Amino acid sequence: MEILVTNDDGIWATGIQTLASSLKELGEVSIVAPLEEKSAIGHGITIRESIRVQEHKLKGLKSAWAVDGTPADCVKLGVKELVGNDCGLVISGINHGPNLGTDVLYSGTVSAAIEGVIMGLPSIAVSLNSWDYDDYSVAADVTLNLVRYILENKMMLPGRTLLNVNIPPVKKEEILGFRITKLGVREYDNQYEKRLDPKGDTYYWPAGKIIPSKEINPDIDIIAVEQNYISITPIHFDLTNYQIIKEVNKWDLDKLRI
Ligand code: MN
Repeated sequence: MEILVTNDDGIWATGIQTLASSLKELGEVSIVAPLEEKSAIGHGITIRESIRVQEHKLKGLKSAWAVDGTPADCVKLGVKELVGNDCGLVISGINHGPNLGTDVLYSGTVSAAIEGVIMGLPSIAVSLNSWDYDDYSVAADVTLNLVRYILENKMMLPGRTLLNVNIPPVKKEEILGFRITKLGVREYDNQYEKRLDPKGDTYYWPAGKIIPSKEINPDIDIIAVEQNYISITPIHFDLTNYQIIKEVNKWDLDKLRI
């Protein structure tokens, strides 16, 4: 079985390189990752431009492709053209920084894994909960163990569900364990800074700080990872609110006729 490894930080990021080399013992590994950083690009795909690829030889890997496109492009193109039919698993990461709560909607890392499940492949997104910590070795070991467990026990999730994994940036001994979680809500403060350019025109600089969550439920992903647990959230791309369908069905829809 081949494992397709991708990310949104770009092919040369330490996170993906560490991850790919640790997954080698589970099968043939190919990297198909963006040529440049595409963080926060969500599930964007390229539709009106060509997609160029560069093949690289990386030690111990079956193949490595730098794609001038988005993370979702990498998975689509990787499965259909580059890696081929033996691709049995998509792992996206290890992202530099968390992908927690509502932020998964912006995340290229998570979107790549969503693309994987759309294509019918078991998929996992992995992120390290820090923008400063640059030791990915613990996170890579955690991912290796998780993937091995899933493969050995055939724990593939039904209904095209992916796993979103966030790992605390601490030493192995400090990790308290795993928690199966649900997505929380990420709120930001002062999202844009208003500035003037030299010509006197206004522009905005995206800034913003995360507002610490008031949530106390330990089953929320944001809280679990803050408490030094590895957070695993099963995610689905189906955004339908099933509980509300009945309620909306009570509306007098005839009144909406035009
Ligand atoms: Mn990223």
